[in-house]
Amino acid sequence: AHGAHVPVLVIGTGYGGAVAALRLAQAGVPVHLLEMGMAWDTPGPDGRIFCNTRSPDHRAYWLRTRTKAPLNYFLGSSIDRDVTRHTGVLDAEEFGGIIVYQGRGVGGGSLVNGGMAVTPRRENFAGILPSVNADEMYGVYYPRANAELGVSAVDPAWFDATPYYQYARVGRKHAQRSGFRFTFVPDVYDWDYMKREEAGTVPKSALAAEILYGNNHGKRSLQQTYLARARATGRVAISPLHRVTAVVPDGARYAVTAEQLDTAGNVTATKTVTADRVFFAAGSVGTSKLLVKLRATGALPRLNDEVGRGWGDNGNVMCGRANHMWDATGARQSAIPCAGIDNWAAGGAFAEVAPLPVGIETYASFYLSITRNPHRARFSWNAAAGRVELDWQTAWKQPSIDMAKTIFDKINATEGTIYRTDLFGVYKIWGDHLTYHPLGGAVLNRATDGHGRLHGHPGLYVIDGALIPGNTTVNPFVTITALAERNIEKIIATDLR
Ligand code: FAD
Repeated sequence: AHGAHVPVLVIGTGYGGAVAALRLAQAGVPVHLLEMGMAWDTPGPDGRIFCNTRSPDHRAYWLRTRTKAPLNYFLGSSIDRDVTRHTGVLDAEEFGGIIVYQGRGVGGGSLVNGGMAVTPRRENFAGILPSVNADEMYGVYYPRANAELGVSAVDPAWFDATPYYQYARVGRKHAQRSGFRFTFVPDVYDWDYMKREEAGTVPKSALAAEILYGNNHGKRSLQQTYLARARATGRVAISPLHRVTAVVPDGARYAVTAEQLDTAGNVTATKTVTADRVFFAAGSVGTSKLLVKLRATGALPRLNDEVGRGWGDNGNVMCGRANHMWDATGARQSAIPCAGIDNWAAGGAFAEVAPLPVGIETYASFYLSITRNPHRARFSWNAAAGRVELDWQTAWKQPSIDMAKTIFDKINATEGTIYRTDLFGVYKIWGDHLTYHPLGGAVLNRATDGHGRLHGHPGLYVIDGALIPGNTTVNPFVTITALAERNIEKIIATDLR
């Protein structure tokens, strides 16, 4: 309520915010989380909480009147359609040179993502978080994160048999015939549930193209894991549809201002509460935008010059390949990917064999590559426009394309195949306009100390993907979760006891 005081306020309910909430509550500290998106706990008139990728409706997008599908063309035609403006679950946030896709709602990115839960190869860790002790991460915090998130791998025998992973088996065959390392990618999806989906004994989710706009069953989002356990302590309150706009020192405390939104995105109330400590967990973009604005407008003047810097796209780039008729990828496809091609050491690329669950045979293999892109962008405050901007340029994706080509040029040569040119526009091979994996903007040991305490303002912390300087070599949320586990343990031990 307006005017209230809380010991700890957390901005955002993604991985970082959920870890902070659970561990603080378990340590006996009451926690209040503010989340700009919806609760996503109530079915619509169709009996479902979320819509699927084949028929997006108002629930799909954050405050848009037309969908903005990541893969926005098929056979050279736009597949986007008009929708009612609503506080939907997927935000396609447009900056000058890149569209950054993010989850909106209680659970953050865990609501919309593919659930791929990948621990980086240990030899790459020093390049990901150079100031963090790898022995502790691989001995304690990665295992802790994987256990809490409910990570497991597909049953290889079922993988080999089900029609729903024919596309991934084709991906494996092509990878292996070109001499690349094929890996199964673990996931938080309940694989036994997926088997029951195939058997027809439960409602279909992954097997009914549920991905991007939410999963109604099967995927263990943060609502089922960290946030459920945090709520069970009785010490955690979550306010959805509350967007934080300011954090200002107020004596030894902080005054936090939030706008309450209705589901059309209108501001219906503005509230201020005070907190002893504030955790920024609004995601790489959300946290960076808030901090850059608050520094520039004088609310938090002592934040250092590193705030806003070191942002990267995890080297995301997408492409499709056109297979021969004997390599059909299947009209039935699980929306949960489970296969990867690892050419990181030799070519700087790790490619997921991704689904194209359009419901018809496409003969296409589709991939999301994570690459060692060296470019880092910066957030800055545009006072005239009253908004935060990001200086990423689309041309900066070229190194990512070159790295992805170390895999797919070779596969095309081996198989005698070509790239698809109809998935991202008219004669456009590369999906180089977007990222699913924003990272950085308040980098560990630069904008903060070695555990996420922001320099200049005691009692303020960063605990989300903003801490990670732009790349994790694989999908990021396990690393975001493990780093949050590491940092919150230290903060509870030293700052709250
Ligand atoms: P987030 O999860 O983004 O959470 C931040 C939360 O803060 C959001 O709920 C947001 O609404 C809220 N917020 C923002 N600003 C404010 C504000 N001002 N006030 C109040 N609340 C605010 N990663 C993987 O590892 N594996 C995958 O398979 C995978 N697939 C993906 C697929 C898609 C389509 C997308 C978009 C992402 C995917 N990711 C995947 C990335 C992963 O989801 C993110 O890296 C992760 O969610 C980031 O966690 P976070 O805690 O930093 O922030």
